[in-house]
Amino acid sequence: MEFKDYYQILGIPRDADEKQIKTAYRKLARQYHPDVNKGQAGSEDRFKEVNEAYEVLKDPDKRAKYDRFGADWERYQHAAPGGQADSAQDFSSWYSGSPGGGRVHYEYRTTGDTGFSDFFETLFSENFGGRTSTRSRVRNQPQRGDDFEYPVEIPLRDAVNGTSRRFDVQIKERCPSCEGSGMNGRGSCLACGGSGIVPKNRTIEVQIPAGVRTGSRVRVAGQGSPGQNGGPNGDIYLRITVKSDGRFEVDGNNLRTDIKVPLYDAVLGGEAIVPTVDGSVALTIPPGTQSGRMFRLRGKGMPSLSGKERGDLLARAMVQVPTDLSEEERNLFEELRSIRNTNS
Ligand SMILES: [Zn+2]
Repeated sequence: MEFKDYYQILGIPRDADEKQIKTAYRKLARQYHPDVNKGQAGSEDRFKEVNEAYEVLKDPDKRAKYDRFGADWERYQHAAPGGQADSAQDFSSWYSGSPGGGRVHYEYRTTGDTGFSDFFETLFSENFGGRTSTRSRVRNQPQRGDDFEYPVEIPLRDAVNGTSRRFDVQIKERCPSCEGSGMNGRGSCLACGGSGIVPKNRTIEVQIPAGVRTGSRVRVAGQGSPGQNGGPNGDIYLRITVKSDGRFEVDGNNLRTDIKVPLYDAVLGGEAIVPTVDGSVALTIPPGTQSGRMFRLRGKGMPSLSGKERGDLLARAMVQVPTDLSEEERNLFEELRSIRNTNS
């Protein structure tokens, strides 16, 4: 978090009096006012900064607090009381570790968006450098437990039919020794190092519905970290990856596959065996089938997650031209060609 030098922002000495502060503020506020600087990059940020600096320095209480803690900001931030800075850090690194995932929760923020910087919000939040009583009041508010996300790989067959899986997950649980308080007797709890939570391994069984795709997230409600002070538990999410299947390509609700059709069946008609996720089926190949012709097998694709409909299997005929002709076959092909040439 960046330290803000409010005196520098207003361009005034540290011992500036009320009048100097007001004069400097008015001049800069006019200069950077958004109405005056429409579309000019940076001027809105400067305007906010100037307002923030004035908000602090015009108020003797705030200014005193700023002067007291501001100078020692670096040191103070590292030794932030109640571990607030630390837990915020843990939080963001956990979520950045699972891109695209997570209903992100910001409950640890005690302030809404007021247009002021994080520095301001932290310095003037109720629990910064305050007394224990105000801090514990904030702490006693119900807090929702953390969510967890686990990657899961399943074969295509399971994505089509649905499946259930057992998972060993590590969750954070309220420390049983101190019941989550972090304190035991007079000192901090040894079992949890004073954090009030301990890691615990747990096995959960999860139903994965038919129709999931790569990127689908399956929610296991209430199985995440315990809430605090009566807040609800977090959730566990399974982030699904459907393993690629050599035979099928997923294309929306449809599956695609290639089928080999011998030249003779392509010319004269025949039957091809087509693999589907429900087992093999026989497909009639009509006479004169060209290579690349697409056959649609209705209802043999992926189910939709709602379960109401199911896609198709699109089977593409790949006509196989023989390359290992015997002498006799070669002669017959020669004969076929001469017949065709004579007739056309
Ligand atoms: Zn404990």
